[in-house]
Amino acid sequence: MAVLIIGEHNGSVLNPSAANLAAAASAISSDVDVLVMCQSGEGIVSEAAKLSGIRKVLLAEGEQFNHPIAENVSAQVLQVAKDYSHILFAADSFGKAASPRVAAKLDVAQISEIIKVVSEDTFKRPIYAGAAIATVKSLDPVKVLTVRVTAFDPVGQEGTASIEKIEAVLGTSKVVFLGAEKVESNRPELQSAKIVIAGGRGLANEAEFAEMEQLADKLKAAVGTTRAVVDAGMAPNDWQIGQTGKMIAPDLYIGLGISGAIQHIAGIKDAKVIVAVNKDSEAPIFDVADYGLVADAMDVIRQLQTKL
Ligand SMILES: Cc1cc2nc3c(=O)[nH]c(=O)nc-3n(C[C@H](O)[C@H](O)[C@H](O)COP(=O)(O)OP(=O)(O)OC[C@H]3O[C@@H](n4cnc5c(N)ncnc54)[C@H](O)[C@@H]3O)c2cc1C
Repeated sequence: MAVLIIGEHNGSVLNPSAANLAAAASAISSDVDVLVMCQSGEGIVSEAAKLSGIRKVLLAEGEQFNHPIAENVSAQVLQVAKDYSHILFAADSFGKAASPRVAAKLDVAQISEIIKVVSEDTFKRPIYAGAAIATVKSLDPVKVLTVRVTAFDPVGQEGTASIEKIEAVLGTSKVVFLGAEKVESNRPELQSAKIVIAGGRGLANEAEFAEMEQLADKLKAAVGTTRAVVDAGMAPNDWQIGQTGKMIAPDLYIGLGISGAIQHIAGIKDAKVIVAVNKDSEAPIFDVADYGLVADAMDVIRQLQTKL
């Protein structure tokens, strides 16, 4: 029984989620391989080979992986799938696009967003926006899983895996990559940041969000928000935390003027310390907060600015 994890990257650096995926995979088997698909992957594979507990890194190099669309990724995974009992993707937009294609072609059910490995065929996953946890047993010969990476502590960097080049296959020529709109930011990435400051509808306008951003920069924090704020056009989509946004697991989350709707809480539950500021003492966010402050969010932002 061997497990394959899919190592994402940005073209030059391995995505940190690979270390979390490796941890989930190690809970299933001691034979864990990483598949890296890229245009040119020397640096990426050497990072993957250093992950603790990895047996082998498979490298498929091809121009089609410069912009890895799901059709090509799934075809490459299927090329090696016969050697594995489990195939693990991160539960992000990359994994969510490619894994169902792999599962469908293998004629197995895909199990989404696992947060715990109970045994080699049994997994825990949140349902109803995290309000309940389902235990799912799969009798399929191959388990295709997406993993909520924040639920698994990353493995270390003591690995010495071997690297094997494999033939790159072209999945499709009918779907082509046209372009990407990238958001450039000097701030830490929301899903890997140690500190996240998030503002909700309790902040009245863009000027108040700008003040929150200044505070975030002082703390070297990432900035997040709620869907209500995104829908109102006051913050970009990639700031959204929650069930239909990003799942985060920082050391410290500070929620300012956020009510604590179940869909938002689903995204912050794995934060180590939750601090909530809301002027309504009955706000549901206080039910999950480690520290709660009944106060005006802007007063708190301005006082912190002067004290830091
Ligand atoms: C299918 C579905 C998916 C969803 N997915 C997500 C998701 O992924 N992420 C997400 O966030 N939401 C999601 N939502 C929306 C969610 O239900 C809530 O509507 C949203 O999270 C509320 O955002 P909010 O807390 O900013 O606003 P509100 O609920 O309006 O809360 C504003 C809070 O600010 C407080 N406040 C007001 N003024 C101040 C002040 N001056 N100082 C301090 N506090 C103040 C108020 O007391 C209130 O508690 C989803 C909804 C649905 C139906």
